[in-house]
Amino acid sequence: MNENKTMIQYFEWYLPEDAGHWKRAAADAAHLKEAGFTDVWLPPAYKGAQGKSDVGYGVYDLYDLGEFDQKGSVPTKYGTKDEYLAAVKALHEAGLSVLADIVLNHKMGADGCETVLAEECDDANRNEEEGPAQEISAWTSFRFPGRGGKYSGFQWNHTHFTGVDWDDRRKKHEIFQFAGKEWDDEVDPENGNYDYLMGADLDMNNPEVVSELDRWGEWYLNMTGVDGFRLDAVKHIRFPFYSHWLMELRKKTGKRLPAVGEYWSPNVKSLIHYLDESGLVMRLFDVPLHFHFVQASSSNGCFDMSRIFDGTLTAERPDRAVTFVDNHDTQPGQALSSWVQGWFKPLAYAMILLRREGIPCVFYGDYYGVPHDHIGPVGAQLDALLCLRRDAAYGEQIDYFDDYNIVGWTRLGEEDRPGSGCAVILTDGPGGSKNMCMGARFAGCAFRDALGNQKQTIVLDESGSAAFSVGGGSVSVWVPDVR
Ligand code: CA
Repeated sequence: MNENKTMIQYFEWYLPEDAGHWKRAAADAAHLKEAGFTDVWLPPAYKGAQGKSDVGYGVYDLYDLGEFDQKGSVPTKYGTKDEYLAAVKALHEAGLSVLADIVLNHKMGADGCETVLAEECDDANRNEEEGPAQEISAWTSFRFPGRGGKYSGFQWNHTHFTGVDWDDRRKKHEIFQFAGKEWDDEVDPENGNYDYLMGADLDMNNPEVVSELDRWGEWYLNMTGVDGFRLDAVKHIRFPFYSHWLMELRKKTGKRLPAVGEYWSPNVKSLIHYLDESGLVMRLFDVPLHFHFVQASSSNGCFDMSRIFDGTLTAERPDRAVTFVDNHDTQPGQALSSWVQGWFKPLAYAMILLRREGIPCVFYGDYYGVPHDHIGPVGAQLDALLCLRRDAAYGEQIDYFDDYNIVGWTRLGEEDRPGSGCAVILTDGPGGSKNMCMGARFAGCAFRDALGNQKQTIVLDESGSAAFSVGGGSVSVWVPDVR
């Protein structure tokens, strides 16, 4: 009997800059396991350009996991290398798998400038060069003096990058492509070519870059013992890169190394294209489903709930989907801010936690709140849904996505898993009820709402069916009443 996998994204953008997060993760390990989680995605663990204030995506030195005095401190925002290793160990000892956040698209905070011949690109069409090549002063020299060559003597210079967005000579902000280089092909076609995202963009066509990243991946696995990866910004990196990188690591280590990629696009066709082009080596976050949740939560009950899974990765490639409600980029104040409104969170979490398709990922900011924006945790309803996922959401699934407002599904349970089986009903509009079937095994059983939103009990008929009820803008999860 396999248990349901459940991830937690164990950080939000505005965590305190106290270098204490690895210690919090270690202390929280047993509780996370108890709460029903199986996998923990930790934030980027290496030194960023902003030192102790860097969330981790402005990567400076991939080999500095909070060990060297660089960028103003030894620890990262989350703590020291030893504290990171201790957190991984504590999570392992609690029976949890750890996913590391891997950021290989760009580097930031170089140690020095180089004079490079470069062409300006039109931001809206990166294939268009504007004017002749000119000398610019680019932040592309990474020598890591604070690390002094420990772990790797590799030093980066402009030949390892394709472009930057800052000319330090003219103090000019513009996208510059280095002369003699082309943006990587096989990337997302937005803006003509979306290879360039930020910082100094790694040239994945340079074999020195690829072999250094291969070496680093092996070093990182050996050093940390993490179990898998969350891969950042995959649409900005040539699509075959990660299949190469992951396959090499899997081959060298003999580990399964499950991975989930962040391809930020509401278009499911783009996601499917990436999965196919990258050789099906990873899952992807179901970004289209996130946007459906956002729309449904802000449509005043006028979202067609019968179509909420239409055009999502969960519907099109269920075995490749990691579902989520919100994350560190969608939270208020962030670049991709698209926050699912609070009243809808229990509904959205029911839709990712209690269905067969996809591996759900719960956001730290939903589980623990976002004090920076005075957002409280989702609370008891989310705790209850996590328990239901662990204990009840098993077996055959029958869907009732047949109404504009009230939708639902049943999980018929597994005979050898006592207490499994549930009927889920939710609505973004007025309350009501829906006839759903739990199977003859439950004929005559009394059911109650495990979320406590409906107070009465419901007795199933001889076929195991009943009219299950739900309140307006709410969700109920009906389970056998064995109290
Ligand atoms: Ca890139």
